[in-house]
Amino acid sequence: MSLQPELRIPFHRPSLTEAEKNAVLQVLDSGWLTTGERTLAFERAVATDMRIQQAVAVNSATAALHLALEALGVGEADEVVVPTYTFAACASVVMHLGARPRLADVDQKTLCISAEAIEAQITPSTKAIMVVHFGGLLADMEPILALARDRSIPVVEDAAHALPCSREGRQAGAASDAGALSFYATKPVTTGEGGMLITNRTDIADRARLMRLHGITRDAWRRYTTSGSWYYEIEEAGFKYNMPDIAAALGLVQWRRAEAMRKERERVAYAYREAIGRYGLSDQIELPVWPGNGEVHAWHLFPIRLRAGVERNAVIDSLRSEGIGTSVHFIPLHLHPLYAKRYGYRPDDFPIATAEYAREISLPIYPSLSEADVDAIVAALAHALSSPKL
Ligand SMILES: *Cc1c(COP(=O)(O)O)cnc(C)c1O
Repeated sequence: MSLQPELRIPFHRPSLTEAEKNAVLQVLDSGWLTTGERTLAFERAVATDMRIQQAVAVNSATAALHLALEALGVGEADEVVVPTYTFAACASVVMHLGARPRLADVDQKTLCISAEAIEAQITPSTKAIMVVHFGGLLADMEPILALARDRSIPVVEDAAHALPCSREGRQAGAASDAGALSFYATKPVTTGEGGMLITNRTDIADRARLMRLHGITRDAWRRYTTSGSWYYEIEEAGFKYNMPDIAAALGLVQWRRAEAMRKERERVAYAYREAIGRYGLSDQIELPVWPGNGEVHAWHLFPIRLRAGVERNAVIDSLRSEGIGTSVHFIPLHLHPLYAKRYGYRPDDFPIATAEYAREISLPIYPSLSEADVDAIVAALAHALSSPKL
């Protein structure tokens, strides 16, 4: 995912203020760079604000997903249902545990996994279900949670796009057994690289805390402070997934700005809808599903879909030639060589994902994008779509 700084309007620009810079400088001055007091404060802020019992800071959402599945006991001969319309991390963590990802198709409108699609992939080996809140719109959780409850299968939410995102007060990541937040460079709240596992299950949080740092029973920072001692014990072959305080300090400031930044992205989303109408493109461009009453959309992505048969790649090239960066979310996992070769998946196994991928373009959406930028992007789209080559 290139940030494309050479473009007039790059696909993404992080929103950083003096407060973030000062917070990082304070950590540098303090002399304690890795996991410590700032990380604990970040965990506490996330847990309090999301009204969730446990928040475990890690160095990526990928790590949070890995730790969640590990804590649920996913291992060899197990299967985890994963939407095919997602990022590599969701399925690769399943494979790291020796288990098999069972890919599932998505809902045509929301591009989120649906209860029906999940049901079609459940087998006696299903050990967990993973849900992705695509683009920052909460997946239809009621039927998914009901299905999971009926069969006693735990649910893990990938909330990488979803800060903040909720429906009727149910927040992304907090409604199931465990959730994973991402603080990757392009995500709604960023620490450069970072993530958080959130859960109301103490057993999952305890296990994740142990496994996030080498499976040792005491955090390094406690050992080196005056209240701690030099002694520790290794209980498991754990991972190196802890979050450094440099990242946590940045994250704390971003966290407090999360809703303000979301409102700015929402402003951009409405500006797109207005401009697409004004340029007469409503017949040619399918807008993302709009949030209804009681819904908070994170607007991490602004995914539009072109009419079937329009050359999506030519539209992307045309926008790029006008200095506008875009992206595509996602190349479905089943189309990648790894999954196609290892599990024999074919494009038509998941017809919705395959068809929607072919006509999707993600337009820039971030707080510093102005109405004039949006106008320029939609004008460039109108120009591309009027080209006789398409
Ligand atoms: C970005 C992303 C991830 C991975 O997040 P990292 O923090 O980079 O590990 C996982 N799932 C989805 C849907 C993502 O977009």
